[in-house]
Amino acid sequence: MIYDFIVVGHGLAGAILAYTLRKKGHQVMVIDEPKPNSASNVAAGLLNPLAGKRFAKSWMADEFIPFADAFYDELERRFQKPLFYHKPIYKIFSSIEEQNNWMAKSAGGGWGDYIQDTYTQSKGEPAVHDENGGIMIGRGGYLQVSEMLFLLAQELQELGLLLPERFEMTHLQLDKEGVRYKHLVAKHLVFCEGYQVIHNPYFKWLPLQPTKGEVLEVKADNFAPECIYNKAVYVVPVGEGRFKIGATYNWRQPDEQVSREGEQELTERFEQITSHTYSVLEHWAGIRPAVRDRRPLVGVHPEHAQLSIFNGMGSKGVMMAPYLADHYAAYLAGQAELLPGVNISRYLSLYYE
Ligand SMILES: Cc1cc2nc3c(=O)[nH]c(=O)nc-3n(C[C@H](O)[C@H](O)[C@H](O)COP(=O)(O)OP(=O)(O)OC[C@H]3O[C@@H](n4cnc5c(N)ncnc54)[C@H](O)[C@@H]3O)c2cc1C
Repeated sequence: MIYDFIVVGHGLAGAILAYTLRKKGHQVMVIDEPKPNSASNVAAGLLNPLAGKRFAKSWMADEFIPFADAFYDELERRFQKPLFYHKPIYKIFSSIEEQNNWMAKSAGGGWGDYIQDTYTQSKGEPAVHDENGGIMIGRGGYLQVSEMLFLLAQELQELGLLLPERFEMTHLQLDKEGVRYKHLVAKHLVFCEGYQVIHNPYFKWLPLQPTKGEVLEVKADNFAPECIYNKAVYVVPVGEGRFKIGATYNWRQPDEQVSREGEQELTERFEQITSHTYSVLEHWAGIRPAVRDRRPLVGVHPEHAQLSIFNGMGSKGVMMAPYLADHYAAYLAGQAELLPGVNISRYLSLYYE
């Protein structure tokens, strides 16, 4: 059996790419070493069209979001399970100055249904600190990432299309027809290893910046908001009085251990949003595959046409991966030009250095 693709890594990137390639009729084999604290497994799963301090619409949000909506919808129907929760995101103004900045920025209009409401004073939710008001952002929500990965992996396993083990470079052979890996033969291999690509001899020249993030799950009493809150951190209601609070950003010391500093930062910021009493239930740390220019890393190796990479989703994998997987599959089939903004060719000078 000659596979069309071997996909290495079954986090958000590899899982969505493998599913997309299979849907387009390709024969795909996935190799993944299960990792409970992978970026995907610890992610809060947020999709926010308007992230960042400068109130800018996320890059390509108009293209990515409808695609992501349809993609997660399809998986929900396939597995008969809710996976993506559409929820407005209440971005609380941290100061009057921030409110003024937004008022000036929004005066020109053009935000469509990304903005549901603007509050110039508190919305009035008890025990929530929003004295300067905020904006209610539409078209966002959160994905149960680990649940989705579990369902997709289970399906692959049932079909015999998942090798749950570490991919070892020493077993990889490249030849004119494609690649050989142990007993597997394929025309093409795509690496989706998340931050671990920094150890990959074929792609470690790319400027991936491993960025640690920590997340808490807390239980808060008598707090049942309809929206996700955001002021320095996100407070995501995940049901039964539980909330995910995240996340921290640390690129100076990207280890995978939870820390007291991380917990303190998250609880302090949570307390700046609400004075509801709470207890911490869980604490996770993972490493994001972030990139210097905050754009994904997608494309074929400059010298080995049978190897490529689909990575660098940074902190926006939930929003970007479905569209980019479809786009990359079309590119690999010769049906589209690769978006210059994601193409690894933008860093080619680093390869030849
Ligand atoms: C704390 C935190 C919060 C986040 N919150 C959000 C959020 O709210 N919204 C959002 O969109 N994004 C969020 N992110 C970012 C998001 O998690 C990433 O963009 C995304 O998960 C990256 O997916 P990935 O598949 O590239 O990498 P990973 O999730 O790291 O998956 C890589 C997979 O490849 C496997 N692998 C690697 N090397 C090998 C090998 N040699 N052999 C076999 N298997 C291998 C790993 O075991 C793993 O299963 C968050 C990240 C963190 C850390």
